[in-house]
Amino acid sequence: MKVTKADIVISAVKPEQYPEDQLPEIGLAGRSNVGKSSFINKMIARKNLARTSSRPGKTQTLNFYIINDQLYFVDVPGYGFAKVSKTEREAWGRMIERYIMERPQLKAVVQLVDIRHAPSKDDVMMYDWLKYHEIPVIVVATKCDKIPKGKWEKHLKVVRETLKKKPDDPLILFSSETGHGKDAAWSTILEYTQK
Ligand code: GDP
Repeated sequence: MKVTKADIVISAVKPEQYPEDQLPEIGLAGRSNVGKSSFINKMIARKNLARTSSRPGKTQTLNFYIINDQLYFVDVPGYGFAKVSKTEREAWGRMIERYIMERPQLKAVVQLVDIRHAPSKDDVMMYDWLKYHEIPVIVVATKCDKIPKGKWEKHLKVVRETLKKKPDDPLILFSSETGHGKDAAWSTILEYTQK
C-alpha cells in the first residue's frame, strides 16, 4: 500500500480517549527493542513518526496512528517485564485487556518477535493471551537482515514451534533495514482490515 498520509491522533490511557470513528484497527505488540517503532516507521514510510527505542518505565499509552484515513495502527506499549514493578505490570495488563476486549474495530494484532532468538516467555504469554481472547495474530519476525538467508527457515521453525502458532495466523519475515516483507505485511494487514 502506498501511504500518503500518516499521523499520530492520540496517546490514550483509557477508553474514553479512543478515536470515535469506526475505522478498522491493527494492534502492534512486542517486547521492548524488538523493532516495533522501526516497523511502524518503515510501513508508513516515515523516518521518525513512531519513536524508536522508547525507554522502559515511561508513561505507558496506546498510540493511535491514522493511515490514509483508512485504518489505525495502535501501538501497544512494549512488554518485557524484567525492569518494571508489579504495580506497573498490572496497570499495563489492565489497559491492554480493556482495549483488546472492548474494541470490535480491532481486527488483528501484529506481534513482533526477533528472528534471531527463540520467542521469550513473555512472547509466548502474549500470544497465548491473544489466542485466548480469539484475536487474530499476524506474527512478524523482525531483523531478518541480521541472519543469513540460508538460516531463515530454521529460525522461522523455532518461532512457529515455540509460540505453538496456529496455522491460520500468518508469519512474515521482516527487515526495517532492507524493507524485506513490507509488501507482504501490508497485503496481510489489509486483508484483515477487510474481514
Ligand atoms: P522498539 O523498542 O520495539 O520500538 O524497537 P526499535 O524500533 O526502537 O528498534 C530497536 C533497535 O533495533 C534499534 O537500534 C533499531 O535500529 C534496531 N532495529 C529495528 N529493526 C531492525 C531491523 O529490521 N534490522 C536491523 N538490523 N536493526 C533493526
